[in-house]
Amino acid sequence: MTITDRRSIDYDGASPFPGAAELAPVGRVRAGLTAAIVVLPFFALGAGIWLSGVTAVDLVLAGVCYVVTGLGVTVGFHRLLTHGSFRAPRWLRVMLAVAASMSFQGNVVDWVAVHRRHHAFTDRPGDPHSPYRYGAGWRGQLRGLAHAHLGWLFTDAQSPPARYAPDLLADPAMVRIARAFPALCALSLLLPSAAGWLISGSLYGGLTAFIWAGLVRVAVLQHVTWSVNSLCHLVGSRPHATRRHDRSTNLWPLALASFGESWHNGHHSEPTCARHGRGRLQIDLSANLIALFEWLGWAKDVRWPDPKRTPR
Ligand SMILES: [Zn+2]
Ligand SMILES: [Zn+2]
Repeated sequence: MTITDRRSIDYDGASPFPGAAELAPVGRVRAGLTAAIVVLPFFALGAGIWLSGVTAVDLVLAGVCYVVTGLGVTVGFHRLLTHGSFRAPRWLRVMLAVAASMSFQGNVVDWVAVHRRHHAFTDRPGDPHSPYRYGAGWRGQLRGLAHAHLGWLFTDAQSPPARYAPDLLADPAMVRIARAFPALCALSLLLPSAAGWLISGSLYGGLTAFIWAGLVRVAVLQHVTWSVNSLCHLVGSRPHATRRHDRSTNLWPLALASFGESWHNGHHSEPTCARHGRGRLQIDLSANLIALFEWLGWAKDVRWPDPKRTPR
């Protein structure tokens, strides 16, 4: 039994996690890069508004890039590769993993390892991004919220892929995509810039597309994803039974922007289920895409909610 396992068993559900302050910082280079990725879009936003505002071309390009990379994360990284909610042919796994890698959220192997660890230790010592890390008092929760949203990116999450994602390490295609992560990030900014340049016929159009469909789009999706880690364990409703200490919530205002991921309490109650929302009113666009894949004959063995337990 590891130290984390023992601390997790002793945890009372309200105190700060034992050793909450014992966070190993990441190396300087990674911390610098992460800080740049977090801060740069705000300067870009200012520059974009100051330059010319946003054009219709920028908005369409930003929307397309947001949907492609966002669904890559939710359907690919999360529901397919982390939880095995369905089976997909190799080409589809590769396409989804490539699209998701372009969201600047870490390489596919690390993303899956960190997220599996989050499920293994949800809101207990060992969870890489729990808002309850510093205790359940209001001060602790505020500090925890900052940690769960962003702060954890500057710490060594200690989610070794050899332990949490051995299946991905055994897949040469996934290892190759993980190695290509920096190049895919560059492509994620270059593609909309080139499209903006070509469509508008001017370099200036390429620059505004770079700002809005590149930097600002990346930042919006990042904050939506991070909000699932932070807000969706702190505010919202908890209609479903989950494991002890698990405080995941459903937060409807984020449902559309997060492609259904903010039905997070539903997800934690049945992590391998392909649909996180329950019933017709809980819109879950990721589940709709998986249903389309199934209809096309691409997705197999889809784990839909048990109709006897919950309405589909
Ligand atoms: Zn969670
Ligand atoms: Zn999950």
